[in-house]
Amino acid sequence: MKVPNAQQRRLLDLADLDADIAKAKHERKNLPEDAELAKLAETAESIREDRARAQVAVDNLQAEYDRVDAELTGTTKQLNRDQEQIDAGLVSHKVLTELQHEVTGLRRRAENLETELLEVMEQQEATDAESERTEAALLHATEQELDLIGRRDAAALTVDQRLEDMDAKRIATVAEVGDELITIYERLRSQGKVGAGLVRQRRCGACRMEMDPRTLATIAAKDDDEVLRCEECGAIMVRTDQSGLPKPAAAE
Ligand SMILES: [Zn+2]
Repeated sequence: MKVPNAQQRRLLDLADLDADIAKAKHERKNLPEDAELAKLAETAESIREDRARAQVAVDNLQAEYDRVDAELTGTTKQLNRDQEQIDAGLVSHKVLTELQHEVTGLRRRAENLETELLEVMEQQEATDAESERTEAALLHATEQELDLIGRRDAAALTVDQRLEDMDAKRIATVAEVGDELITIYERLRSQGKVGAGLVRQRRCGACRMEMDPRTLATIAAKDDDEVLRCEECGAIMVRTDQSGLPKPAAAE
């Protein structure tokens, strides 16, 4: 098969372009901002768990507070009723003694309940602080997330635009290379191979396989327009001034 050498050289540009496109696609899929976002999502999840735990503690303590407070209110009411009866002085000596005894017990009970209430309030301070801490941490994480999403989108857009430009350039290059070479090139690429490479330093540019002097001499003797294939990887081997091939005359 013969294709003008200039056209074959455009195939090298296409191979470079395809390598760049593959790199850009990899970059697009592995944006550092996406990795940071995934990490941040884990952090936020852990904060949400802390917040839920803190909320349960807050609720439990509030229930405890309400229970002690209600008991204290009841005790105080009973205390006041007894005291009123004592103060009114209308009860018998026996009842009075009983009431005074009850009042002493109720006072002790009220004091204990007040102490208990203070303890609950102290614990509430700690759980409220933890609840506020988790709220603030979550807000901070949300802000960070929004900032990261903004930066991720900007980075993605830059890569997408680069890919778009390269795709346009690719269409133009494909047209210049021509159907014959493109068919071979694309078939190789569909097999996961490079498709084309520059012969350089005795090697196939696609698979880096070193060629023996005999093969090199054969290649050098071929007409410039002859399409050569690598025996190893099947790639179209393009020759340029950089190929450093032996002079055809020396090969004969
Ligand atoms: Zn090769």
